[in-house]
Amino acid sequence: MPNPFENALSQLKRATDVRSFDQELIDRLTYPLREIRSHVALRRDDGSLQMVEVYRVQHNNWRGPFKGGIRWHQDTDINEVKALAFWMTLKCAVANIPMGGGKGGATINPKELSENEKERLARGWMQVMVDVVGPQKDVPAPDVNTTPQIMAWMADEFGKATGDKSGAVITGKPLEQGGSEGRGVATALGGFYVFEALKDRLNLPVSCCIAIQGFGNAGEHAAEFFSQAGHKIVAVSDSKGAIYSDAGLDIVAVAKHKKATGSVIGYVSAETVDSVLEVSCDVLIPAALENVITDENVNRIKARVILELANGPITPSADDALFAKQIVVIPDILANSGGVTVSSYEWEQNLKGEHWREEQVFDKLKRSIQREALAIFERSINLETDLRRAAFVVALERLQQAQNSRMNGIG
Ligand code: NAD
Repeated sequence: MPNPFENALSQLKRATDVRSFDQELIDRLTYPLREIRSHVALRRDDGSLQMVEVYRVQHNNWRGPFKGGIRWHQDTDINEVKALAFWMTLKCAVANIPMGGGKGGATINPKELSENEKERLARGWMQVMVDVVGPQKDVPAPDVNTTPQIMAWMADEFGKATGDKSGAVITGKPLEQGGSEGRGVATALGGFYVFEALKDRLNLPVSCCIAIQGFGNAGEHAAEFFSQAGHKIVAVSDSKGAIYSDAGLDIVAVAKHKKATGSVIGYVSAETVDSVLEVSCDVLIPAALENVITDENVNRIKARVILELANGPITPSADDALFAKQIVVIPDILANSGGVTVSSYEWEQNLKGEHWREEQVFDKLKRSIQREALAIFERSINLETDLRRAAFVVALERLQQAQNSRMNGIG
């Protein structure tokens, strides 16, 4: 499996092929400012002790406090967390929010944990990290397998240790713990707004045929938004497999089936297929994990447009192959930036002691993400390049400006 951090650095290098940047900027962004690897001593319900490896990578904070989710997954390792932290730096710059890039994790399969064990791991993670996170230092959030409830336990643990009960240390909290209206759906909704802004420019039909990999926070809500807007969702998948219906899936019924059984598999009005990625469709939405479109399967991709809700789903060489086939990729650092954008709204609300209405949050998100999407599209035309390189160029220019104004020429 390709190393995701090497993929991220390869994307950085490729952006400099279309616009030159100061080598010092590139060198500084090649290395995270800080990498923390530690262990939580997790007491299991049966009385045994499990040492769980945990991480926080603080990649860059020139534009504001480090920001990024916490992933709990059996395959999570330091290279994955470094790559995700790097992408957060670029993403926050693309979204033009006053935050930097960070990411956290734990190498564990949370499906094997009881609720009590999850709470002990959440509190243990925060105990290990309490000195390095904080509203003005580093603000974590949910990612794969971490939920608003897990964020609430972590925020509570931080409050106990520091006395700071503002909740601004962490975003993606439940509403009653200081969470923002709209945060739960923000990643998917942001992706949908980006798609709407670019749809005509990409010559997509009024009603598109859509396939989605992953049916969690990002994927399930994306299925809902696209289907409510009249698009046809022909295929969805989760970690257990993929389902397909030529006539289009009833997303409400699929979600109900998943809630009852734990998987989309077994939903009656659909057939099972081997790979959701290879289905014929207008728009393919990877919304699970990284490195799913590689040299091995890229030639079997039939979508016209790929909207990356997952982080890093396409390897750099597969990206080139898609570009050659004129398949447009709307890159993760733009497509899924709705999540961190609304996280930054949550942080701002907590710092100011405010609570914004859902309509206000969605309106602010829509204006902001569509403005950035259109600017990146124009940039890709001017630079005669793909949307990923254009998004990197926009982010690197903003990071360069932040670095210049901080260092005042003497750093
Ligand atoms: P989640 O844990 O809620 O859902 C992940 C989904 O992926 C689940 O349905 C799971 O079954 C599925 N999955 C796992 N392995 C799979 C496989 N091999 N094939 C098909 N499906 C598989 O996670 P999420 O929050 O929805 O995150 C999904 C992706 O979106 C990740 O790349 C994450 O970094 C990215 N993302 C999430 C947010 C957010 O706010 N949640 C923000 C930005 C980016």
